[in-house]
Amino acid sequence: GGTLGVLGGGQLGRMFAHAAQQLGYRTVVLDPDSDSPAGSIAHQQVQTDYLDAQGLATLAASCDAVTTEFENVPAPALARLAEQLPVAPAAEAVAVCQDRAREKQHFRDCGVPCAPFAVIETDAQLQAVDPGLLPGILKTARLGYDGKGQVRVASPAALQAAWDELGRVPCVLEQRLDLAFEVSVIVARNVQGELVHFPLQQNLHRDGILAVTTVPAPDLTAELQARAIGAAETIAATLGYVGVLCVEFFVLRDGSLVANEMAPRPHNSGHYTLDACDVSQFELQVRAMAGLPLVAPRLHSPAIMLNLLGDLWFRDGQAETEPPWEAVLALPGTHLHLYGKRSARPGRKMGHLNITGASASQVREVAQRCAELLGLPGL
Ligand code: ATP
Ligand code: MG
Ligand code: MG
Repeated sequence: GGTLGVLGGGQLGRMFAHAAQQLGYRTVVLDPDSDSPAGSIAHQQVQTDYLDAQGLATLAASCDAVTTEFENVPAPALARLAEQLPVAPAAEAVAVCQDRAREKQHFRDCGVPCAPFAVIETDAQLQAVDPGLLPGILKTARLGYDGKGQVRVASPAALQAAWDELGRVPCVLEQRLDLAFEVSVIVARNVQGELVHFPLQQNLHRDGILAVTTVPAPDLTAELQARAIGAAETIAATLGYVGVLCVEFFVLRDGSLVANEMAPRPHNSGHYTLDACDVSQFELQVRAMAGLPLVAPRLHSPAIMLNLLGDLWFRDGQAETEPPWEAVLALPGTHLHLYGKRSARPGRKMGHLNITGASASQVREVAQRCAELLGLPGL
């Protein structure tokens, strides 16, 4: 027993709270919104900004350990909390994950290949860019997500314009790579240094947002899978990381494996673990922060996850309408997860649908049928 706190009240915090409550913990959620997905199901809410000293003090006073669900939670808030109670992951690890330049440097330090890149913080650095990095993608070093804060550039002139467009904030220019497909791996590490991992999942993005996750990854060789797991474990161990960490990889057309970025928390591509594994990524987050034993998770069913974005609530340009859940739930092996958000907006993550079954082909058939019922593009 005890009380576990989470910074951030979104869907990741909500699913964390579900897992913590299942294991008998009280939960406290800190979020500025009183009706957030996690806050509305927690035992206690601290309704303040993430850097509000009094809010942080209240959180610290009522919890035995704290984690974060919000990728851009200010690292100073975590550092301040850590003076009073265990915080997982630690401020320093989160700070590395929040900054693409530091993140890529960490990959290099771990001997993990990543896209050739240059840091751009000044005009001089912009002028001096190696033209071999073009065509490339200019990404803001901080605060980007779902493909926001990124501009594709093909020439030095376009690079200049793109940096202006992004507000001349610190950026990373990455060479554009020839992707065959994308995968990610989720690992968990506790204070004792025990490390466990999920199998790799294959991810399909649409308009920069994760759309479909398939596990086992249909196109991945066992050799690349082992290499990605080894890389993610080295990345976590070298950071002294405690908690759940997701590392995204590209598999290139030439067969090589390249790390893209990492997230210091459970990840959208790991939501299938709720229904297809004997331990979910959220339970591992709870176990890691609470000092409970970590066990190697077992995938007991192939799975496909369909992300449910707010667009589905506005089919045919009508007023907001609930999608046809009854038809979806009539199919075998469908597991619907809705996050309790008050209103839908295009692009907003409203929920996800996991499909499990006896075989990968059966899961695919049912997922295909679900996509049709929901008006999603085919798989
Ligand atoms: P997330 O929502 O996953 O945090 P993000 O906004 O942080 O996304 P990235 O993951 O860096 O952005 O990039 C988004 C997508 O853009 C990738 O999943 C990939 O499809 C494509 N992409 C990014 N970098 C490259 C690259 N160097 N070469 C080719 N494609 C890329
Ligand atoms: Mg990202
Ligand atoms: Mg990404």
